[in-house]
Amino acid sequence: MHEMSVAQNLLATISAETAKQKSKPIRAKISCGILNAINDELLVEAFSAISKGTRCEGIKLEIEHKPMRGLCKKCGLEFEVDFSKCYCAGCDSTDFELLEDAPLILEEIEFETG
Ligand SMILES: [Zn+2]
Repeated sequence: MHEMSVAQNLLATISAETAKQKSKPIRAKISCGILNAINDELLVEAFSAISKGTRCEGIKLEIEHKPMRGLCKKCGLEFEVDFSKCYCAGCDSTDFELLEDAPLILEEIEFETG
């Protein structure tokens, strides 16, 4: 399962960061592309299962899905592709190429303060 390996990587990264901060993490923000899509619910479940008993237990995961971007071959505009209407946002041309999907990244970790 894709989500389980993502959860394991996340836990490893957050744990390493937690050891440095000497504080309890309360929230982590992740972003990923559309093609790289993860199921939010499965990831949250997998993470809570493997983080039980660690300092990362109870952390709130926020997952942001980044839209696919396209580059218009006619006017050169780079735009967010809306798959319900597949044309350039600037000139309505359907002649565009899809840019690389956003990778899965851990954007930030929020730690308990005080
Ligand atoms: Zn265009």
